[in-house]
Amino acid sequence: MSESVFILKGNIIYTKQPDAFEICERGYLVCEDGKVQGVYQTLPFKYGGYPVTDYGDCLIIPGLVDLHIHAPQYSYRGLGMDLELLEWLEVNTFPEEAKFEYLDYAEKSYQIFADNMRRSATTRACIFATVHREATLLLMDMMEKSGLCTFVGKVNMDRNAPDFLCEETQESADETVEWIKDVLHKKYRNTLPILTPRFVPSCTDALMEDLKKIQLRYSLPLQSHLSENLSEIDWVKELCPWSEFYGDVYDHFGLFGADCPTVMAHCVYSGEKEIERMKENGVFIAHCPESNMNVSSGIAPVRRFLEEGLHVGLGSDVAGGSTENLFAAMAHAVQSSKLRWRLEDQSLDPLSVEEVFYMGTKGGGAFFGKVGSFEPGYEFDAVVLDDSRLKHPQPLDVKSRLERMVYFSDDREIRAKYVRGRQIDTD
Ligand SMILES: [Zn+2]
Repeated sequence: MSESVFILKGNIIYTKQPDAFEICERGYLVCEDGKVQGVYQTLPFKYGGYPVTDYGDCLIIPGLVDLHIHAPQYSYRGLGMDLELLEWLEVNTFPEEAKFEYLDYAEKSYQIFADNMRRSATTRACIFATVHREATLLLMDMMEKSGLCTFVGKVNMDRNAPDFLCEETQESADETVEWIKDVLHKKYRNTLPILTPRFVPSCTDALMEDLKKIQLRYSLPLQSHLSENLSEIDWVKELCPWSEFYGDVYDHFGLFGADCPTVMAHCVYSGEKEIERMKENGVFIAHCPESNMNVSSGIAPVRRFLEEGLHVGLGSDVAGGSTENLFAAMAHAVQSSKLRWRLEDQSLDPLSVEEVFYMGTKGGGAFFGKVGSFEPGYEFDAVVLDDSRLKHPQPLDVKSRLERMVYFSDDREIRAKYVRGRQIDTD
């Protein structure tokens, strides 16, 4: 008998495709060597002797994947929501991010972030830190300890940032290399570095060229922002008049998915050419609906992205978004798609709960490999939800129970969480 096999029992629900749930009531989910071996209504005879954890009437879902979140902004989530993006960055973001020069502040702030991520239904995340190398390493230590699997990026900014946060071009490149070397020494199991130019207005052409060289040397993925807000798009056109569209700037420097996995947050105003380029290059889109509402950006044409077969996942985008709870991002994605349909464009139908659940699991999970589903061979990320606190006068089916989780669950419903086949502490 292999010691690496264990089995969970409960109401298993997940998506293989965006338009349908797979449901196995009171079924068995088998993990072998950290991977999903299968989902069974009746446990096959060969697994008879292995340990089964029976979660009774609980729901068992794949772990949620947050493709876009800013750890240093966690402390002001839910605050200062009366501004548009560019003013919001000046007033709220940059003064707070400057504090991460001081490790004692970084430790206090990042510990709250790491603890709450550990208690959430999220098992994977792409995380922005700040420009500060040491504080970024501290965050990576904490994320490694949390048991989650994450990409974490030291931010690059060498223009259009206040003096107290702006790096010299050479300094930004050198610090990035030093940070990568430090990370390699740490030999983390679950925490990986990702290149993180904040967005085009923050990075000179020379810095972009340096980042490409660093990427080629260390084979790193990349995360950034794209076509979030109309003033931002005009600004990019002014800064890079030679570009065909916003994403063309990243592509010009070889930083748009051509030879590295790339995730771009927002894409609210991506036009035909930008969509086409993202499709050609396999760029992932992190749809962040709450943030897009809070900083008055707009509503991304997500149905279009799905129809085109683009990679689309969800991002909480704290602190543009107010919560790391990715179920809330699913609900916001449905709600904002309905407003878009009603107010802007009736050619794109609103999103369904199946579609947003797919985006928050398998859609975004693909950035991490075979992640976000219970199909055989997928990495074993699972969350057990106990919804008994949320009373109802009639018995509800499994799909309805999951839909209620999307709209009003919080970390009180999380009974257990597994990442790559290891149970992690959610207390
Ligand atoms: Zn962001």
